Amino acid sequence: MDCIFCKITTKDIPSAIVLEDDKFIAIKDINPQAPVHILIIPKKHFSTLLECKDKGLLGDMLSMANQVAEKLDVNKKGFRITINTNREGGQTVFHLHMHLLAGRPLSGVMG
Ligand code: 5GP
Ligand code: ZN
Repeated sequence: MDCIFCKITTKDIPSAIVLEDDKFIAIKDINPQAPVHILIIPKKHFSTLLECKDKGLLGDMLSMANQVAEKLDVNKKGFRITINTNREGGQTVFHLHMHLLAGRPLSGVMG
């Protein structure tokens, strides 16, 4: 499958990895929208949030976000989690992923 995030999870495309476990890879976004902008990407391919029926994996993805926030020391000041879904949701890469944004006040970003 010609999916850029599948190739990132298999490391066929290089990325700046901040954390990894058996189910996820957390990498720096190539076009950061905040001083800290991390993508948490499941190693298994789901094209959107809607395709993922694995509640355990969805919970584990949030748990990974907590670990990333703690590792990057943005947990106390705060951070934002976003899953853009389909075109009007702003999704551009059709492999499920979660954004973790931090490092500046984010109020107002979501309109
Ligand atoms: P979406 O708009 O689908 O929610 O988010 C896709 C994100 O992936 C964007 O923030 C974009 O900057 C990021 N992105 C796209 N291609 C690459 C890449 O090759 N490497 C990295 N690290 N991020 C990417
Ligand atoms: Zn994929």
